[in-house]
Amino acid sequence: MRRFLLVSSSHTAWTRGNRMSTTDKVFTGKYWLIERYVSGFSNNAFLITCARTGRSVIIDTPADPHELVEAAAKTNVEAILITHGHRDHVEGYETVNNSLTAPTGIGNDDRGSLLASAPVSIDVATGRSIAVGDITLKPMHTPGHTPGSTCYLLETADSLAAGEPSHVFTGDTLFPGGPGKSSSHDALKQIIDSLETHIFTMPESTVVLPGHGDFTTIGDSKREYEVFASRPLDPNISGDVTWN
Ligand SMILES: [Zn+2]
Repeated sequence: MRRFLLVSSSHTAWTRGNRMSTTDKVFTGKYWLIERYVSGFSNNAFLITCARTGRSVIIDTPADPHELVEAAAKTNVEAILITHGHRDHVEGYETVNNSLTAPTGIGNDDRGSLLASAPVSIDVATGRSIAVGDITLKPMHTPGHTPGSTCYLLETADSLAAGEPSHVFTGDTLFPGGPGKSSSHDALKQIIDSLETHIFTMPESTVVLPGHGDFTTIGDSKREYEVFASRPLDPNISGDVTWN
């Protein structure tokens, strides 16, 4: 994604040296709370906490996850879910897991990015569901950015019945304005196929929380994508593709 490619290594060093990571409350609802911790290459890590039980889930473990670990330690972390195995999303995994050891889930094809000793015991295949307190995360295998890229939909029957928003954690598969980076044209086609199959089929009000930068919604993403899909696909494009 072009946005975080603009982040230079000197910025990263500055970020690390000064611990300038930021934290914000993304959502406070009837059933769950979501907080974001930004570190590493402007990476988003998320802490989702069940409002009733205080049980929680971490999404991604970027570098220097100190604030994340501190906040997560006040909850009962029952799962660490990784969107994909690129180094910037797992660089802090050892730190997080050494502090809060929790069963971990990562797409099979990205499993090699964690140490063999990591407690990878959560099945994140499409169709599974991960229940933590009153919340449920539904993984979807969305290959393209990496072979094991996985998105996680946070939604329950109760949240839907109450009219609460659903949230989807898309890692580097979908950003505002375009898909994540593709290493070849075939990889781009694979991301698009993943998005059409699993992501753009969600209700428009679903909030999209990517692995870097700003948030969007399924509705806005679909409208952006429709413009792109209305033109013939240039057989030469890959890399940092935008929908416009
Ligand atoms: Zn990535």
